[in-house]
Amino acid sequence: MENKAYIALGSNMGDRFGYLTQAIILLESHENIAVENTSSIYETDPVGFTDQDQFLNMAIQVRTSLGPVELLDTCLEIELKLGRKREIKWGPRTLDLDILLFSHENIETEKLTIPHPRMSERAFVILPLLEMDPNLTLPNMKEPLKNCLLSIPDREGVRIWKQKNGEDVFALIES
Ligand code: ADP
Ligand code: MG
Repeated sequence: MENKAYIALGSNMGDRFGYLTQAIILLESHENIAVENTSSIYETDPVGFTDQDQFLNMAIQVRTSLGPVELLDTCLEIELKLGRKREIKWGPRTLDLDILLFSHENIETEKLTIPHPRMSERAFVILPLLEMDPNLTLPNMKEPLKNCLLSIPDREGVRIWKQKNGEDVFALIES
């Protein structure tokens, strides 16, 4: 499976942990997708539409033989299967699956933008990504992603909720 992708997962309705777990199981059960790594889970204050419950957020790294649009369609199907309804933009959701990076591709179509827009401004995206790859660079950015952490305002709104076994991720949050 030739492509490496990073996917962000978020949930702020009902059994949040259950939705994240189910999403990973469904992705892994797809014959063209292999889940290679998962981050810790973070609890985060909502951004954008702020009058809603706190989110659980995490990210995963996958290998896939699907193309980017096929991977997006698979993610949208899984969102629907797990009860996602689109009512308020940036509003409460059982499950959000966003493709952050897809190999080193830059894609800008109506349906799909990769790297995901705004990802380098969001601590709840950057922290789980850096946990999996501290030296990650984005195809449309000269500096490594970790440099973005210094200028991010919402870091205090992101707290470890379930730490991945045996790894010290607090250093990332405190540094
Ligand atoms: P958001 O994630 O911004 O809250 P939605 O989950 O409702 O919004 O997604 C709306 C649309 O965003 C999707 O139907 C999809 O076509 C589009 N989209 C564009 N780029 C991406 C991406 N990188 N990952 C996931 N969805 C994307
Ligand atoms: Mg989304």
